Amino acid sequence: MVGDVTAFFMLKTPTPGGLLEEDTVDTVSIKKKLLQLKAELIDLDEASHAGTQPVALDQSSVGRLSRMDAMQVQAMSLETKRRREIQIQRIEGALKRIENDAYGYCVTCDEVIDPKRLDFDLTAFLCIHCASAAEQ
Ligand SMILES: [Zn+2]
Repeated sequence: MVGDVTAFFMLKTPTPGGLLEEDTVDTVSIKKKLLQLKAELIDLDEASHAGTQPVALDQSSVGRLSRMDAMQVQAMSLETKRRREIQIQRIEGALKRIENDAYGYCVTCDEVIDPKRLDFDLTAFLCIHCASAAEQ
């Protein structure tokens, strides 16, 4: 993913009339899955909290190399945490779009997002065309 996509999350307005039939996208079970996913991510985040504590500076027992290792581990866990936070934001965006009857539509061009794309990523908010345009 390239660029700050979080800005898109809240822009979608309800689609008048709603082109999607009720039975085309099962938003009830999607919502359930998203909430479950979000709970799991929050659990993981809490479980890994210890890993993101500042690296202790204990010169006597920790050699230079192992301190570097510790910092690397910390950097990785911060990166993991950052990714989780983005994922949680994406889930919240998807939940919001379900509330607004906007789920399954591209936030950029309003086209219906390919259901296969949504199967792959429940939080997808761009159609394939806009997604590939955003990556360039
Ligand atoms: Zn689009």
